[in-house]
Parts: sequence; structure tokens; C-alpha cells
Amino acid sequence: MSDAIMPTYGRMDVAFTQGDGAWLTDENGKRYLDALSGIAVVGLGHANQAVADTISEQASAVIHTSNLYRIPKQEALAEKLQQISGMDNMFFGNSGAEANECAIKIARLYGHKRDIENPSVIVADASFHGRTLATLTATGNRKVQAGFEPLVKGFIRVPFNDLEAVRQVAEHQKEVVAVMVEPIQGEGGIHVPDDDYLKGLRDICDANDWLLILDEIQTGNARTGTYFCYQQLGVLPDVVTTAKGLGNGVPIGVCLARGKAADVLQPGNHGSTFGGNPLACAVGLTVVEEIEKNNLAERAAELGERMRGKFQERLGHLNNVKDIRGKGLMIGIELDSPCADLVGKALEKGILINVTVDKVIRLLPPLTITDEEADQICDMVSELVEEV
Ligand SMILES: *Cc1c(COP(=O)(O)O)cnc(C)c1O
Repeated sequence: MSDAIMPTYGRMDVAFTQGDGAWLTDENGKRYLDALSGIAVVGLGHANQAVADTISEQASAVIHTSNLYRIPKQEALAEKLQQISGMDNMFFGNSGAEANECAIKIARLYGHKRDIENPSVIVADASFHGRTLATLTATGNRKVQAGFEPLVKGFIRVPFNDLEAVRQVAEHQKEVVAVMVEPIQGEGGIHVPDDDYLKGLRDICDANDWLLILDEIQTGNARTGTYFCYQQLGVLPDVVTTAKGLGNGVPIGVCLARGKAADVLQPGNHGSTFGGNPLACAVGLTVVEEIEKNNLAERAAELGERMRGKFQERLGHLNNVKDIRGKGLMIGIELDSPCADLVGKALEKGILINVTVDKVIRLLPPLTITDEEADQICDMVSELVEEV
């Protein structure tokens, strides 16, 4: 591994040189089944033809012009996402953290416009919102924050999936302006809250004139069975962010806003040199169209059911398996002891998986996998767990 790169990642000693759908081939020609999609990014699979064609066509036309001018592809993607999401408008950046920075800036400016001097955002334990200073402060994981103090002010932490805790804050803190949560916690261990949690948050936000901000950076783009996860839960947020799956590997992030949150940012309040450029937006548009054309949201729901069922059958009775959970193709298998070593064992077997918070096997396969590939993932991962 090159010492020219800062050692911020614990990398595996393998490099992939070719992809094909759910499969990757390494430098030595060994093939791997990708059950992680580059962490929920490559939803359409590797070397997707529609994406490759769009990149090539757009690169041959124009890649970048800056936001000093109109960008027709940005407008087209925005109108498509507006129609899908029920939101009013949006801002494009280049990553998840940037999309969340935009959401946090909206919350603060929304507060100041209401004469709240120190606007605070309620965030949850075990959340993950990114690695910039504001988003790592919002993140509910001390490991992400340690050493980067002083942290950013204006965040209040509560347990996840606990409406009473949020009500308590509402009673005692008068400077809250927003609640920001993931509909399902990804990095935190695939925690699916109770069905009425988001609806409960919506009610509390409405009663207190707060914004409900949903971080759908991982859950968005059809991963959980609908384009956005909130669409299965009967709520509309005021702000929602997404990134990962939107570009199928081309960096893009977006912060969508609705109603009073959509009027907050005005000329001069926010910007990005690269954000929303013709290349990223052309690809984003292709990704959304492919998701729709191939009914990948429904497919994710159906395959997720199938896979969780298989895991339940095969692993549910094992003493070291504590829980099998998730929604759509966001699947978590919680063991009773640390199992990070399974990632290396899986690599040897020829499958890419992830372990988060030490004990949770996290699977985020491409939305385009076949039934056979889904079964293969279940078989290979089950074998690994059985061998523990
Ligand atoms: C990955 C992720 C982020 C951060 O996105 P980056 O593109 O790495 O900045 C934020 N929130 C959630 C829920 C994520 O899964």
C-alpha cells in the first residue's frame, strides 16, 4: 500500500480492476460477488451500460460550466426528484456530508429568521451523518469525534427510536429548530425504528414549528423498497438529503426542501463549485430513470424479504445470532460477539461484505442482482456465520 496516501482507512489488500453487475474481478483474475455495492453506491451494478453511455456522451459534450450559468441537466434531475419526492426544491453538492451541511445550514438560518439566537438541532445516538466538522458533531459515535474538539455547537443528542426523549427536550429547550435522523440507521448497525417513530417525530416537529430533517443518504434511491424510505411511513419531511446511490459511483449529493424550509436559502447563502455539474446530474438522471424503468424499488423490497427469510431459516436458530433485520436491500445480521474478521474470510471465499459496530454484518447488494445471486449471497454469508 502506498505511503503517499494518508492512512485514514483500514484497507484490505485487494484491488479490483473490472466490474460486471454484482461481480468484481481483482488484479489476479479472481472474481468476487459484491454484496456491499461500494457501501450502497453502485445500486445499478458495476459497469452499468446506461451509466457508462451517459458519462461518455456528457463528457464529449460538456462536463462543467459552473453554477454561474443555467445547467439544463441539473434542472432536469431536480424536476425529476421533485416529482418523485414531493419536495419543492433542492441544492446539489458532491457528497453525503455536503448534503447534510446544507440541511444544517437551512435549519440554522430558519432559526435565525425566527429570532432564535442559538438554534439547536436534535440528533440521535448511533447516528452517522458524515465526517465534516458539523456532520461529525451530529454523528452519534465518539470514535468519529475524538480528537477533533472543539466540536460544533448547536446539537442536542437523544436516544434513537425514543419519542418521549424528544418530547422532554421540547419541554426544556426553547432554542431547538429541527430534528435530524436517518429513517434506518446504516453505519450504526441497521437499526429499524418502530413504524410510528417518524410519524411521531413529524407530529412533535409540527407542534413546535421545528423542521423534520431526514438523512436518506444510505436509505434513498430505492434501497429500502421505495425511492425514499419515508414514502413507506406516511410522512413528508421538511428537508431530506441523499447521495450514495444517486450517482452509481459518480460523486453527487443533494439536499431537498419543502414548504417553509424551501424558502430559507437565498442568493449568497450557499454554494459549491462542482455541485450539480452537467456530468454528475446527467448520470443522476440516468440512475433515477433506470430505477424507475426496471422497478428497482419494488425489486429491492421483494429481494430483501426473500433474503431475510432465507437468513432466518438458516441462521435464526443459532445461539450466536442475535437478530436478522433490515428493510429492502439493507440487511443486518447481528451476532453476539465481535465479528470484524468475517470480512477477510468472506474476501477469501469471494464475497464482499461489511461489518459495522463490531457485531453487525451489513449487506447492501446492488438492486439489480438476480434471484440466484441473492441466494448465493445468503448461502455464502450463512456458511461464514455457521463457521464462527
Ligand atoms: C455515507 C453516509 C453519510 C456521509 O456521506 P459521504 O458521501 O461519505 O460524505 C451521511 N449519512 C449517512 C446516513 C450515510 O450513510
